[in-house]
Amino acid sequence: MKRFFAVLLLISATLVAVAQQSPLKPRPDAFPSVKETPDTKSIVMATTVEQMTAWDRYPTYPVYVEMMHRWVERYPELCHMDTIGTSLQGRLILSLYIAPSTDDDLYRPEFFYSSTIHGDELTGYIMMLRLIDTLLASYGTSPELTALLNSTRISINPLANPDGTYWGGDNSVMASRRENANGIDLNRNFPNPFAPVAKSIPHENQLMIAYLTAHNFRLSANLHGGSEVMNYPWDSFTLEENPHPYAEWWQVVGRRFVDTARTVDNTRFRDVSQDGVIAGGDWYVISGGRQDYVNYYLDCLEMTMEVSLQKILPCEWLPYYWRLLSKSLINYIGEIHSLPNSIGIEEVEGGKRRVECYPNPTTGIVTVTGIEAGTKIELLDFTGRLLHTYSSHQAIKPSDNQTITLDLSSFVPGLYLLRTSSGTAKLLKR
Ligand SMILES: [Zn+2]
Repeated sequence: MKRFFAVLLLISATLVAVAQQSPLKPRPDAFPSVKETPDTKSIVMATTVEQMTAWDRYPTYPVYVEMMHRWVERYPELCHMDTIGTSLQGRLILSLYIAPSTDDDLYRPEFFYSSTIHGDELTGYIMMLRLIDTLLASYGTSPELTALLNSTRISINPLANPDGTYWGGDNSVMASRRENANGIDLNRNFPNPFAPVAKSIPHENQLMIAYLTAHNFRLSANLHGGSEVMNYPWDSFTLEENPHPYAEWWQVVGRRFVDTARTVDNTRFRDVSQDGVIAGGDWYVISGGRQDYVNYYLDCLEMTMEVSLQKILPCEWLPYYWRLLSKSLINYIGEIHSLPNSIGIEEVEGGKRRVECYPNPTTGIVTVTGIEAGTKIELLDFTGRLLHTYSSHQAIKPSDNQTITLDLSSFVPGLYLLRTSSGTAKLLKR
């Protein structure tokens, strides 16, 4: 038995060595089948940034860091670098903050993607790098992505556990492993809101907690690999024991992600549940995961995305997974504008009266109170762009001098500002 494994190891080591030196295998014509499991991992490392152009290699650690810095140099008006901290072995834990500089920053909700807290789950790492590249390159050319960037502050941490990923050294991901340098599974060691006894918090998690609490993220996701499923909170309970207050919303959002991916390949996201979505505890209960920590302690909704059956994809499959996942990943950022909990009736600016609108969220007909007689009401999008001005005679139901009813059913779903002479209110249109 031992000899058999030794021979197997020798063969795989040889194949890996060959793969690292030889040009890429021709790409498969069709999407890799779900049942197809690679017997060897054809891992090809990019040793220069230029070798990442086709997105079919894994970057060495120096190439990764250089890619991140080059984006900041190339798009200084669109992004800057946040350093979450330095890992136990001294590698950088980076997050790229992407938001065009404008004056209305406070009105834009903050979104966060983070990947590869398990150092050997590499698909999300490459997807996040490619997502950064796509978002930055599309600003000003793609109307859809330009609008997304203009309405959202996006932070992306492609590699949460660099010591795990580069456990075998900076120049290869072949020996990547799940844990940090101390052998700790970081996704089991966040503060557990439901456990009576607090565990000690590992170094990288302390850094992540400081970073998360310094921001005001409202929606986030943590990317993993090894399965294909959208895993929503709680991880600590089954749905029956303790459903998350927004379980229904999570199911809708998860299905939108999966259904969009299935327009590319209908066989995907079926290994855990038929619809590709599951409450964490219904899959298996864990304690100390980041998802439950973020949902419970921070005013942020986070889900765990398991994005590929293989933890380490053969390089030539990476472009196919981008085709499978990219639209879903982009759309999920936009879900921040459909959050169930974030936008209540809220006064944004001080005024003589409190401006309120209800119902909020609304599907169209909305009543605005607290306005002054003869006032006009301006409808702005979340970037502050004026969309429409209503005078009181345009109100569909003028009731008195302080309350009018408007019909917003022709506007697309999203966040809006209703500005009057007495103040401004945030409004969510479904
Ligand atoms: Zn994982």
